[in-house]
Amino acid sequence: MGGRTEQSGALVVVGSVAIDTIETQGGRAAEVLGGAAAYFAVAASFFTPVRMVGVVGDDFPQRDLEWFRSRGIDLAGVEVRPGRTMRWTGRYHEDMNVRDTLSFEANVFDGYLPTLPAAYCDAPFVFLGNISPALQGRVLDQIRSPRLVGADTMNFYIEGARAELEALLCRVPLLIINDEEARLLSGERNMIRAARKILALGPTSLMIKRGEYGVLFFSGDTVFSAPAYPLEEVFDPTGAGDTFAGGVMGWLAATGDVSPAAIRKAIVYGSVVASFTVEAFSLERLRTLTRDDIERRYREFVSLTSFDVASPV
Ligand code: AMP
Repeated sequence: MGGRTEQSGALVVVGSVAIDTIETQGGRAAEVLGGAAAYFAVAASFFTPVRMVGVVGDDFPQRDLEWFRSRGIDLAGVEVRPGRTMRWTGRYHEDMNVRDTLSFEANVFDGYLPTLPAAYCDAPFVFLGNISPALQGRVLDQIRSPRLVGADTMNFYIEGARAELEALLCRVPLLIINDEEARLLSGERNMIRAARKILALGPTSLMIKRGEYGVLFFSGDTVFSAPAYPLEEVFDPTGAGDTFAGGVMGWLAATGDVSPAAIRKAIVYGSVVASFTVEAFSLERLRTLTRDDIERRYREFVSLTSFDVASPV
């Protein structure tokens, strides 16, 4: 990752766009908007225009497509195919860091082969959100000369498509995954050891999301740690990780600055947007969120983490 250039803005994301059913100790939301690319794109759209790649069925609510468009999300890369949209049902335990997948149907994603609109192929920023590594690779093949490629994956693919995932990781400079995924991918419980093994697979940088414990960023020999914004109540953690990645990549794409200092700032913006997502089911909190709300919480985050380095202890 280099320094600042004039080229900024365009951010392509591929990933799942889904209809979720979510159960928490506090309630249940049936057939609501979900999917990694949906959370990512809406989060990134607070900072920069987004170009989305994916597929939905003919049952996907028109009003959600309109909402995406109204947020500056280009849907030229989203196919509408006859059939059902991807469906996922998850149930959270009392400890919200633990959840069970009750059902998963790929539906229209089965056999889907993304072909990018010509206008997407010059995008400098690309995020390969949660979807099979083969599809992530196919999207990357079509981008001519990206400045920064980020990717996510999940247990489903780490266990079920390991060879394809390892082939992809050689081509991805920035991997953004959660702590459980880091353990599964590396076979190590300790995050420092896990990071070392994952960086040996190809990525030059790694962000490990640890839910309420914040984020660890590894790049070369440096480590950066950011806390999560302290919340009294987490209502629905679904998509927090995708929202975080959307905030990070959206902020980097908007500024065109991918220096180490900018990446630290982007991590805080990502953490701030993710902290809003978990306050309500699905993407509901993001529907009313404003850039001012984000900036306000960003400033709180700065004061939360600042201390006087000059004073003696
Ligand atoms: P996260 O909470 O960050 O793991 O992301 C949750 C989102 O991932 C949900 O909105 C689901 O629709 C989506 N999802 C669940 N299973 C899969 C899968 N196998 N592939 C892609 N996306 C999935």
